[in-house]
Amino acid sequence: MSLDFDPERQKKAKEYARKRYLLFALDLLQGAVILAIFIFGGLSARLKEAVESFAPGQVAVVALYFLAFYAFYWVTGFPLAWYEGFVLQHRYGLSTQSLRSWLSDQLKALALAVSLGLLATELLYFLLARSPHLWWLWAWIAFAFFTVILANLFPVLILPLFIPFHPLEDEELKARLMRLAEKARTKVRGIFTLKLSVKTTAGDALLVGLGNTRRILLGDTLLKDYTPDEIETILAHELAHHLHHDMALGIAFQAILSFLTFWIAGQVFPFLVRSMGYEGLADIGAFPLLAGLMGFLTLVLTPITSAYSRWRESLADEYSLKATCKPEAFASAMVKLANQNLAEAFPPRWAEILFYSHPPIGRRVRKAKEWLEEGKCASP
Ligand SMILES: [Zn+2]
Repeated sequence: MSLDFDPERQKKAKEYARKRYLLFALDLLQGAVILAIFIFGGLSARLKEAVESFAPGQVAVVALYFLAFYAFYWVTGFPLAWYEGFVLQHRYGLSTQSLRSWLSDQLKALALAVSLGLLATELLYFLLARSPHLWWLWAWIAFAFFTVILANLFPVLILPLFIPFHPLEDEELKARLMRLAEKARTKVRGIFTLKLSVKTTAGDALLVGLGNTRRILLGDTLLKDYTPDEIETILAHELAHHLHHDMALGIAFQAILSFLTFWIAGQVFPFLVRSMGYEGLADIGAFPLLAGLMGFLTLVLTPITSAYSRWRESLADEYSLKATCKPEAFASAMVKLANQNLAEAFPPRWAEILFYSHPPIGRRVRKAKEWLEEGKCASP
């Protein structure tokens, strides 16, 4: 059982992380350039003119504009997505996907994004036209409502499109989880093996779903090289999310943040529309402006979302250490995870603030070691 990080893997992890940070900046730049071309380069006005001459009414105008805009955005962003999602993943030995399988995933994700985006945009323009003062409030209510529905449907409708899963067959692991659940006086609705190995070499476990679709998913990439004790500490962490109501709380927290986003957009967008000479709020030509504004606000609020998530994750770690009393297994599971997933044990602070939904693995291991050293755990 090793409680130290492999220096070679850590060196590679640092290099990999640096490339991903750079790609993140390039992604942002791509989005900003596209928006600038549409807004200031006159492309939006020309596209609006073209779809209006072609389409019979507001619904068709909005649909055609959105489809053309999204196609432009998707195609220009494709090289970056390909490099990041396929080339780099293979170069670092993290992907097990063929190009064909990766492309098929991209097309499925595109179909999903286009249909949901189209629905959202139509609704948004309906509200902008009908309720110029309170459109942002109605839009926020609809958004919050869809978030709940999507969280509920995700494990049964969306996830199976990309990764197959089936009920966990390992009786010993199941028994361990049941014992933990019994101790916590709760019921686990289902535990499944997620066939991550068809996509990646990285290990992961997660709690998904809401209400009747809630379940614990254990990546098959975690089943091979981890001891039952190590997996038990990971399962306990997932169980903690369930006990702490993290799915519902997370949605509520997101709802508060998105309220802020929609409210600010509701104040700023009319001002921008007026000062930039658009015909009105429901002018489809101002769509890139609205998309840019919402994107910018979401980006600015990202560190708050990440900090909230890191806090909930550290509580789940705490629970796992307490419930299993296996700090050594917890620490060695984390070390294995860092090696396997090429995760930086100690990332730079700015990266943690921006991107990290979990405490950096180095800190998670340190906490487990503290438990070990302080003998916090009484039972064997
Ligand atoms: Zn977690």
